[in-house]
Amino acid sequence: MKPGGISCKEVVELVTAYLDGALSPELAERVRVHLELCDPCIRYVEQIRVTGQLAATATRDLELHPDRDALLATFRNFTRTTDS
Ligand SMILES: [Zn+2]
Repeated sequence: MKPGGISCKEVVELVTAYLDGALSPELAERVRVHLELCDPCIRYVEQIRVTGQLAATATRDLELHPDRDALLATFRNFTRTTDS
């Protein structure tokens, strides 16, 4: 069974581009139809979405709260090494 006219394997390959809005309208429509009819793919895409959001959040937190202490410790060690 190939809901939307594409296989689950194709959906897995296309889903990142699909979520980025990078697919052609025709291909995006096929993926969308497939994802309305295919439970395993729906669960797969949900996982990708959640994982992507977590990664984005982690990156943002790191930018907002860089580990200053670790950076300063690294600079101190660097200075000590070059002094000797
Ligand atoms: Zn599927």
